[in-house]
Amino acid sequence: MKPVAAPVRSAVPTGHDHEELVVQTGERSGATMAVAIHSTTLGPALGGARLWCYLRDEDGVSDALRLARGMTFKAAAAGLDLGGGKGVICAPSTEPPTGAEREALLLDFSDLVDSLDGRYITAEDVGTTPDDMVVIASRTPHVTGLPAERGGAGDPSPFTAAGVHAAMRAAALFAFGTSSLEGRHVVIAGLGHVGEKLARGLADAGAILAVSDIDSDKRAVAETLGAQWIDSESAVETECDILAPCAVGGAINHGNVEALGCRIICGAANNQLADEALATTLADRGIVYAPDFIANAGGIINVYRELHSFSEERAMELALAIETTTAQILARAEREGMTPLDAARDLARERLDVL
Ligand code: NAD
Repeated sequence: MKPVAAPVRSAVPTGHDHEELVVQTGERSGATMAVAIHSTTLGPALGGARLWCYLRDEDGVSDALRLARGMTFKAAAAGLDLGGGKGVICAPSTEPPTGAEREALLLDFSDLVDSLDGRYITAEDVGTTPDDMVVIASRTPHVTGLPAERGGAGDPSPFTAAGVHAAMRAAALFAFGTSSLEGRHVVIAGLGHVGEKLARGLADAGAILAVSDIDSDKRAVAETLGAQWIDSESAVETECDILAPCAVGGAINHGNVEALGCRIICGAANNQLADEALATTLADRGIVYAPDFIANAGGIINVYRELHSFSEERAMELALAIETTTAQILARAEREGMTPLDAARDLARERLDVL
């Protein structure tokens, strides 16, 4: 049997302001997994469990830290009584694990979540599904995003997609003077749970779509949408009205920011900017950035209803209200001469500071 490393209950690493970080080796799987808790000021730290193959385990831990921080701001800006956290399971290979291998990873992660006594609540994220949440729920109650038939709020991605679409309308009004997306050229990078639903909504709204995914099987989805299929390497640089990063973080980086061909960036991915300083570069280039944690809050709003028992209709209403929040943030950024990212942060901080 593979030797099991003792859990590392780390003090906050230099350069981070998190409350807690736990990194451990799964007893069954031998895989590295981490939970980062950024803040519990407003409530328990909620954030999805990402199952992903990283080049190095340290990259997974860094991802958890970065994403957890984003969740604090997301929940605060969305007006939810939740803190920010994130889980990462480092997958052994790029091929999604299945069967017993997958179960071992999920059960190990479940034990890790349970050991945090509710300070962290997990949910679905990139690489995990509502069915995975059922497996995790077999060993801990601190799980959301269960399928509806298990009393959960189900897949959050329709709400996330609706919220991103709503944010796009606000950004379009700001940039083009009309919120209509009819005839707008939209590039969607990442045709997963959210990207595909976003694409369908945008196609219905009359947008002209170009889509990409590293998974070439998704080409069939593009065909059903009547969307152009573009290479995932060059997607972000494609000339368009709106770029929607809907894959993993860091889509916008120092290497491509000058080559971006869009007027608006508005997508579902968390941490779209590889470096927050890029928000200034985008503003200097006249590109309107709808902050990711504002645009993609629909999913957490839906998950929140599992904890606070409100209806699906109310969750959708709140997701659609992201149009108003985004409009307010863009207006504030313009008025106060700051980036939309700073304006969104200020909105969240105002809430965090009130308590
Ligand atoms: P998903 O795993 O279903 O889809 C991600 C898709 O991106 C996959 O099809 C994958 O093949 C593709 N992909 C990965 N790297 C790529 C690349 N470099 N270029 C193009 N495609 C690439 O995940 P999802 O649930 O759709 O979430 C997408 C993003 O939105 C993630 O960053 C996630 O954290 C964020 N998000 C999701 C939700 C939600 O409700 N699911 C909520 C908030 C934020």
